[in-house]
Amino acid sequence: MRDTATHSPAIAVQAGLTDRIARWASRLGVKGEDEGEDAAPVRTPPGQTFSREVDRRRQLYQDIGSFLFAHDLDLTPLNFGVAHDYLTGNDHGIEKAVAAVLAERGKITNGWVESVAASATNKDVTPESLHEMLEKVEENLSQFTGLVDESRNSAKDYGVALQEQVRDLSDEAKAEPVLAKLISLTRSMVEKTRLVENQMRDSAKQTRALQQSLESARRAAEQDHLTGLPNRRAFETTLAAETLAAQAANEPISVAFCDIDHFKVVNDTHGHETGDRVLKFVSGLLAKVSNDKCHVARHGGEEFVMLFRGKTAAEACAMVDAARADLATRSLVNRSTGTRMERVTFSAGVANVLAYEDPRAALKAADRALYLAKEHGRNRVYLAAEAPL
Ligand code: GH3
Ligand code: MG
Ligand code: MG
Repeated sequence: MRDTATHSPAIAVQAGLTDRIARWASRLGVKGEDEGEDAAPVRTPPGQTFSREVDRRRQLYQDIGSFLFAHDLDLTPLNFGVAHDYLTGNDHGIEKAVAAVLAERGKITNGWVESVAASATNKDVTPESLHEMLEKVEENLSQFTGLVDESRNSAKDYGVALQEQVRDLSDEAKAEPVLAKLISLTRSMVEKTRLVENQMRDSAKQTRALQQSLESARRAAEQDHLTGLPNRRAFETTLAAETLAAQAANEPISVAFCDIDHFKVVNDTHGHETGDRVLKFVSGLLAKVSNDKCHVARHGGEEFVMLFRGKTAAEACAMVDAARADLATRSLVNRSTGTRMERVTFSAGVANVLAYEDPRAALKAADRALYLAKEHGRNRVYLAAEAPL
């Protein structure tokens, strides 16, 4: 077990450095992965990390080539894309679909790739597009509700006016049969109007019920179905609103970007279902921190984001680090096989939202700090330096 104190806000990226310079700086001062954290940073010869990265890319390029030739696939951008997504795990859906067809048939074909790509595009109902769609439907519905209310009111007025006329007529011309007929005709009209009015009231009620279902559909669109946490879209909305509120109240506000370490290995070793259970476990552990001032969301894949209203970046860093230390001491068991799993850890980057141009820039800074935490050995939380505003 690592000592928590040694991971707390550790590194500050030099203020005002561009991405590229920050990365180079980290590369020059990088520690070996198996070194203790307290060991002095080893100066890596310039270019060494870079060449490792090039090697990794070259290997991926070769793997993609081997994959395409092994399956006799045409050299099309579509096939390249699917091979890339499968081999890198970039697109979980594609990865799952390819694994399933390989297990079933042992081979994939050009036609299969095309059909998978087509269905992926069809299924591409993003929370954003759903949100837009719902907003349009809602707009139409509220217009319709307004119309129904308006018609109901005019029908009511009409009914009242007719009834008044009937009363006047019946007072003035009691003996006249023609007028009596007119009165009964008018009465039936009033009755009809009342019926229409009831129908309109019912349909207005249905419209309101529909609006409520749309509201719950919208809430569902903002939730991640695997972990039950809010999704990235919901988080971005909350972050924007909370940033404005924190600015107005002169309170600090911080964000954290967390990413499970070597999660691909968990999937590869134990399978996706166990991977999913690990994701749920980690999300539950992070969500323990949440309250009305701290929001936790699944950003996507094995990445989570956290928002700390009223906490400085250093305070938020300490809270995330406590969650990190908690997870690192857990001994998880693969429920499918009963075997003990390797230690699951995560790395994180934390940033002070108000030190950046906008919340998005703060999230990016937290992501850069996370990148450094990964580079420096994982299972640690780094604090991003504040950019000059
Ligand atoms: P690093 O420490 O650098 O973050 O390594 P990593 O393996 O965690 O990162 P990488 O980005 O290489 O792999 C992330 C993996 O997460 C690949 C993908 O299959 C997996 N993944 C993404 N979403 C899900 C999911 O919903 N369920 C499961 N089981 N796996 C997922
Ligand atoms: Mg990741
Ligand atoms: Mg990861």
